[in-house]
Amino acid sequence: METKQFKAESKKLLDMMINSIYTHKEIFLRELISNASDAIDKLYFKSLTDDKVGLDKGDFAIWITPDEEKRTLTITDNGIGMTEEELENNLGTIANSGSLKFKSENKLEEDNQIIGQFGVGFYSAFMVAKKVTVISKAYGSDKAFKWESEGVDGYSISEAEKKSVGTEIILELLDDTDDEKYSEFLDQYRIKGLIRKYSDYIRFPIKMEVTHSRPIEQTDEEKEAKKPLEYEDYTEIETLNSMIPLWKKNKSELKDEDYKHFYTEKFYDYNEPLRYAHVKNEGSANYNALLFIPSKAPFDFYSKEYEKGLQLYSNGVLIMDKCADLLPDYFSFVKGLVDSEDLSLNISRETLQHDRQLKTIAKSIEKTISNELKKMLKNDREKYEEFWKAFGAQIKFGIYSDYGMNKDKLQDLLLFTSSDGNKLITLDEYVTAMPEDQKYIYYASGSSTARIEQLPQTELVKDKGYQILYLTENIDEFAIKTLAAYKEKEFKSVSAEDLDLGSEEKKEEIKAKEEENADMLTALKEALDGKVEKVILSQRLKSHPVCLTSEGQISIEMEKVLNSMPVDQKISAHKVLEINPEHDIFNKLKDISSAGDKEKLAKYAKLLYAQALLIEGMNIENPVEFSNLICELM
Ligand code: ADP
Repeated sequence: METKQFKAESKKLLDMMINSIYTHKEIFLRELISNASDAIDKLYFKSLTDDKVGLDKGDFAIWITPDEEKRTLTITDNGIGMTEEELENNLGTIANSGSLKFKSENKLEEDNQIIGQFGVGFYSAFMVAKKVTVISKAYGSDKAFKWESEGVDGYSISEAEKKSVGTEIILELLDDTDDEKYSEFLDQYRIKGLIRKYSDYIRFPIKMEVTHSRPIEQTDEEKEAKKPLEYEDYTEIETLNSMIPLWKKNKSELKDEDYKHFYTEKFYDYNEPLRYAHVKNEGSANYNALLFIPSKAPFDFYSKEYEKGLQLYSNGVLIMDKCADLLPDYFSFVKGLVDSEDLSLNISRETLQHDRQLKTIAKSIEKTISNELKKMLKNDREKYEEFWKAFGAQIKFGIYSDYGMNKDKLQDLLLFTSSDGNKLITLDEYVTAMPEDQKYIYYASGSSTARIEQLPQTELVKDKGYQILYLTENIDEFAIKTLAAYKEKEFKSVSAEDLDLGSEEKKEEIKAKEEENADMLTALKEALDGKVEKVILSQRLKSHPVCLTSEGQISIEMEKVLNSMPVDQKISAHKVLEINPEHDIFNKLKDISSAGDKEKLAKYAKLLYAQALLIEGMNIENPVEFSNLICELM
């Protein structure tokens, strides 16, 4: 028998498959089953108009037959089959298969992993088989043919015996190695699992003869004698796929339970989802989708191991487990799947990224998620707050990232703790509750609400009857800075230098006092040796002696966050030390200053600065000096 050579490109791809280090070799089964299903589709279509086919819809099936003794796995279909010519053209060369598109991306050498993610067709069989035999009889032909290949060396075609129309693909599995146990593909449980995972929604039944074991019925005497049970094996033909995807069913047929059950099973979550959406979209993008918002963040959610993405199906066949392009980062917590007829099965990651259809779908999905979240916020506040606890940081991150490009879309999803009763409020709720004379949206940052509540800077704002948003997470202030304003109200930190709250008279009064004590303030600043930009008299302090504020873009809280990141460059806020002119300490300072005791004044400056740092929750730079200074005074 003549051995024919594969075409050059085919050889290359085959080589890739055979030497694939890809871990998801298991996808070969999905590929072969999809081909079988396509072939049945074609014959089924014919049967609708052609009585000669002699098969009803219920007769069509795909069979999986593992044979442990022979170490073979056989996939059989009663689809349209292939003629000799078709075997030659379809399997001898990739040029005629959809795999060509894939190959022409030229990405194969660079990215082995692509193999597992996309339809790579028939050739994937060589990832697990040392020999592949295809016996096929085409519809309308009275002859059957056999195609055989052991890989790159080539293939041969010869006449064969086969009674019925269809195709049988026999894989002689590779020998097991230390790393790869190919024999697992003969295990009925493994096969069942793979079919449930990849091919559950194939429209024709996938059948397998499965072996079960049952106890042998005992005689009364045996029971009496408490003889241990003995078991016998029996076989049964099982359909391994459920055939109709949940998402293709009518919404009216489905119950809450169905969705929840589907979610916990499919996405391995013990907890029911907080919310789900079943989308059937027609128009610019045709797709069905199931979207779920989990109730808890997966353990790895905030690590870089976490992979976002939705499952992507093309007409019921899984083509990608985690299609990242379907979800923006700020919605990376969403689980679910998308099934579209508009996508081809043989699509590489590269082409997918540029696929217009996919982009349209992604946009539409994003809108749906956003709407669902807004509905939840409006109608089910308790649930939304639960969601916020789990994933709020991700939304805030979305505001801040991409230079604030998405802030308008996301700002109404934000919640912050308010000084008014420590409850979570939206920005809209804040603005709506603002008294008429309030110009800004005020916020204060700190490591906890308890800590923020004690910040001296909050006193005056609260006294005015204004709410303050408490920012307790690292990302918060960055998000606020990105927003800059909401409904034309600017955000203002209670620690900002220009709080702009006091009356004009008060301002004048303080200004005069500052001028009067200019020498003293300068001396205090100099004593602090560049640690603060200025020492000023405070308009915001009421009972506390001192506080630290900042001028410019970087706040003290941001300095803390930025410096906790592993970067070399230290970043500092432009700090301002504010002294309360109504406090006794102010008079004390004045006394020391007028007595000309520069040394003592410097010591007081250091002490006050250290106090202010401590109130801010920052480390004091020189604790020993601080402690000595206190003792000295005592
Ligand atoms: P693709 O399915 O992407 O076209 P494949 O390499 O998987 O690429 O298959 C090549 C071609 O071989 C298919 O397009 C189909 O025409 C034919 N083929 C594969 N498997 C079968 C089958 N079980 N029955 C009939 N034709 C098949």
